[in-house]
Amino acid sequence: MHNYSLIIQIAYYAAAVLFIFGLKRMGSPKTAANGIYWAGLGVLVAIIATFLFPGIHNIALILVAIAISSIIAWWSGRVVALTAMPEMIAMFNGMGGGAAAAIAAVELLRLVGHPTLQMPISVEALGLGGALIGAISFTGSIFAFLKLRDWLDNIWFPMQQIVNLLFLFGSIALGIAFVITHSWVLFTLFFIASAIFGILMTIPIGGADMPVVISLYNAFTGLAVACEGFLLNNIALIIAGTIVGSAGTLLTLLMAKAMNRSVSNILFSKFGAAKGGTKVEGEMKALDIDDAAINLNYVSSVVFVPGYGMAVAQAQQKVWELAQLLISRGVDVKFAIHPVAGRMPGHMNVLLAEAGVPYDYIYDMDDINPDFDSTDVAIILGANDVVNPSARTDKNSPIYGMPIINADHARQIYCIKRGKGLGYSGVVNTLFFDEKTKMVYGDAKSVMNRMIQVLKENE
Ligand code: NDP
Repeated sequence: MHNYSLIIQIAYYAAAVLFIFGLKRMGSPKTAANGIYWAGLGVLVAIIATFLFPGIHNIALILVAIAISSIIAWWSGRVVALTAMPEMIAMFNGMGGGAAAAIAAVELLRLVGHPTLQMPISVEALGLGGALIGAISFTGSIFAFLKLRDWLDNIWFPMQQIVNLLFLFGSIALGIAFVITHSWVLFTLFFIASAIFGILMTIPIGGADMPVVISLYNAFTGLAVACEGFLLNNIALIIAGTIVGSAGTLLTLLMAKAMNRSVSNILFSKFGAAKGGTKVEGEMKALDIDDAAINLNYVSSVVFVPGYGMAVAQAQQKVWELAQLLISRGVDVKFAIHPVAGRMPGHMNVLLAEAGVPYDYIYDMDDINPDFDSTDVAIILGANDVVNPSARTDKNSPIYGMPIINADHARQIYCIKRGKGLGYSGVVNTLFFDEKTKMVYGDAKSVMNRMIQVLKENE
């Protein structure tokens, strides 16, 4: 028994080291995929070690649950499109929060009707805190999923913030009352209030902000798991939960910073309802795909600016093919990545890496922005908000203050998109009306295909 406990502790520490090592490798696109394997190995070590706990029972049921969930996770990881990744993460994250809350329920309900059973008040409080946060993350993530799927609109009602606060403080008060009375009724009400608060917190937030909210709920789930680690005295849960909690918090703050907004503004500002946006004079000038391609024969520098539309069209392979063609003709080619281009952090980096674009061609916004003044053509491939110059000047715009890619500083700008569709923020893009801008209409992949064909024909 004693030996097993030593083995469990060693295995848990090994798992923690693997988590941290994996996370470190995820910090760079070159090593990110490998980092996921290391972290996954850490999870495997922790799961196997858990079976060595004394008195563990229902092993068959546990194995069946692990098998079913592994199949679902493996299947969804393979079939879910990259553009739907935030939805999948929302669901998985919700399950994590729910699991943490369920652990708290099982452990804390043991105190009901057993006055002799003692638990340090600090541990009980941590368990309840984890249950509260886990339940919020559970229902919040499910509603975030529904919103990302467009199955649910933003819901606002009078005195919403006050009602929200009532539920939050109500559930905290019910939690405190449970610590005093150990009544299962109060515990059930505490759970219901926390779960409802998760829903209320999510329903007014606009779809564009959902990835940030999911990242926040991810941090919540980590925190909830860490709290339950204290409740179970389980070091692996404490370490894994703390890592997820701090990584999720950092990611949330970084995403908010990249949009130049505060987390509270994201949670409470009715962003999706904003009617801001510059009134624009002039018209968009269309350019034929073939003409745009032929023009590329006479340029010496091109910067591609990919956005959500590239992900939708799955045009990453084709854009790299076009880029290679231009490189082979001596054109200086670069890719400019905005930190919130697409629908999740690193979205464009992942797609370009998948297409085999070498990392030295890919530049972060701050590094590439000064180069646009000396760039012949900026090719905007399905990006919109991240190149909207009104973010610099229009105080009424919902994206005011968001740093943008300086594509408008290039000598010419080609915007490749299907039509006059707006970006995720819903505001008009003044870049499309710029004198230097030409709209090259079409699906990003088809346009890339055609451009490659025309360039090859005109060698
Ligand atoms: P946007 O959502 O602003 O614009 C995408 C554009 O792509 C649309 O205007 C659309 O125009 C075009 N498009 C769609 N499908 C295609 C297609 N098949 N071929 C060609 N074009 C297509 O994208 P950005 O990447 O510029 O901006 C991302 C937005 O998402 C920002 O507002 C950001 O704040 C937000 N966001 C991003 C997060 C992240 O982590 N990355 C997180 C939270 C929010 P049309 O319909 O005319 O084709």
